[in-house]
Amino acid sequence: MLRPFPPSWYHIAAEPVPERPRLEGEEKADVCVVGGGFAGLSAALHLAEAGASVALLEAGRLGHGASGRNGGQIHSGQRRDVLWLEAHYGFERAKALWDVAENAKTLVRQLAARFACPVADGLIETFHRTSDAHENERFVEALTSRYGYDQVTALNGAQVAEAVGSTAYVGGLRDAGGGHLDPYRFTLGLAAAAEGAGARLYETSAALSFERNGGFRVATEAGHVIAERLILATNGRSGRLENITRRRTLGIHSFMLATEPLGELAETVLPGNECASDSYFVICYWRKTPDGRLLFGGGESNAGAVPADIGAFVRPHLLRVYPQLRNVAIAHGWGGVISVTPERLPFIRSLGDGISAAAGFSGQGVALAPYIGKLLAEEALGRAPEELKLYADLKISRVPDSTFLRRALVRLALLRGKLADRM
Ligand SMILES: Cc1cc2nc3c(=O)[nH]c(=O)nc-3n(C[C@H](O)[C@H](O)[C@H](O)COP(=O)(O)OP(=O)(O)OC[C@H]3O[C@@H](n4cnc5c(N)ncnc54)[C@H](O)[C@@H]3O)c2cc1C
Repeated sequence: MLRPFPPSWYHIAAEPVPERPRLEGEEKADVCVVGGGFAGLSAALHLAEAGASVALLEAGRLGHGASGRNGGQIHSGQRRDVLWLEAHYGFERAKALWDVAENAKTLVRQLAARFACPVADGLIETFHRTSDAHENERFVEALTSRYGYDQVTALNGAQVAEAVGSTAYVGGLRDAGGGHLDPYRFTLGLAAAAEGAGARLYETSAALSFERNGGFRVATEAGHVIAERLILATNGRSGRLENITRRRTLGIHSFMLATEPLGELAETVLPGNECASDSYFVICYWRKTPDGRLLFGGGESNAGAVPADIGAFVRPHLLRVYPQLRNVAIAHGWGGVISVTPERLPFIRSLGDGISAAAGFSGQGVALAPYIGKLLAEEALGRAPEELKLYADLKISRVPDSTFLRRALVRLALLRGKLADRM
C-alpha cells in the first residue's frame, strides 16, 4: 500500500477543527458541489450568497487536499506566461486571460481580508541559467508595455541575491502584486463563510457515482444528493466518480518542509518577507511564516512514491539555496499532489446538461481556483460569465486512463525536466 501524505504544517499549527457531518440519507439542493478545496468551497460560498441552496460533498476533510497543504504563493497570470499564450492564442486572448488572473488576485485578497487571513506582499521569481536573462527581460517588458502591469521589475544577479538572501541564482524578477498566505486558514475561511451563507458541507462523504434524472442524483456511501446542477471541483482526483477531469490531469507529488524558527538567521532569508520560487523544472518555492519559520517546497518524486522522511528528502534542496541554514532543525515535512494538465493550463469546462468542471490548475491555483469557483457559481446561476468562456476552447490533451501509463508519463516528464535543468 502507498504511504499516505502526513498532515501539513498548517494543519498541525492550526486549532483543531470540529468534523463536519457525513452525508446520510437524502439531501435536496439547487446545486451539488463535489470537492472541498478552493474551487469547490468558493463555488459553494458564491452560490449560497446568491440565494441558491448548495450541498457540498468532500471525500476527506475540508482543506486536506492540495488547497490546504500548498506553498500559499499568489502568482500573477496563468501558469503559462503571457509570451507563451500570445504565441499559441494571440495577444487578445493572452490579455483577456491575464485580466482574469488579475481579478482572481483581487478576489483572493478581498476574501483573505474577510477571513482575517493575512496576505504578505511580493513574489520573487528566480532563474539559474544566464541564458534565461533575455527571456526574463522580454517578459517584464511585455507586462509593463502591453499588459499595463507596473508591478513587475527585472532583477540582476546582485539584486536577486539581496531579495532572497541566496547566491544560488543569476537573475529574476520581483512581482510586487504577488504575495503569500496560509492556504489552510484561507480554506477554513471559505468553508466557514460558505456555511454562514447557508451551504451544507459534508466531510468523509465521497461522491461515488452520479446519474441524471432530470437533474442529478449524486450517491455517497451513506446517502445521496438530488440537485438541479452539478459542479465537479475534484481537481482531477475524483477516484471512481468521473473520468472527465481525470483524463485531462496527471498528479505530480510535491514535498515541503517547515523549519524550526530561524531566529537571527531569519533576516538573512527573504529580508523583505516576500515569497520566492525558482525556474528549475523540479521547482523550489519558499516563504517565511509569521513566527519566523521557513516553509520550503522542493523535490518531486516519481508518481506514487512518498518518502518515509519528507523533511530529509527536501533538505538538500533547501541547503542548495540556503547553506547558512545547515544547523537549523527541520520541524516537519509533508507533501501533496499537484494536479497538472499536459498544457499546464487549467481544464475548465461546461459539459452541458448542467455539469461543469474545473481541475488541473498546474501549481497555480491559490489565486485562480477560488476565482474559477466563483465563475462556476455564476454559471450555475444561469449567468454564463464571459471570463469562463475564455477557458472553454483552450486545448487540453487527454491523458491515459491506465495508472501504469499515467505514472510512466509523469516519470518521463520529470526525467526530461531534470535533464533540461542541467543544460
Ligand atoms: C505541495 C503543493 C504546493 C503547491 N503550491 C502552490 C502555490 O504556492 N501556489 C499556487 O498557486 N498553487 C500551489 N499548489 C496548487 C494548488 O494547491 C492547487 O492548484 C489548488 O489547491 C487547487 O484547488 P482545487 O479546489 O481545484 O483542488 P483541491 O484542493 O485538490 O480540492 C479538491 C477536493 O476534492 C476532493 N475530492 C476528490 N474526489 C472527490 C469525490 N469523489 N467526492 C468528494 N470529494 C472529492 C478532494 O478530497 C479535495 O479535497 C500547490 C499544490 C501542492 C500539492
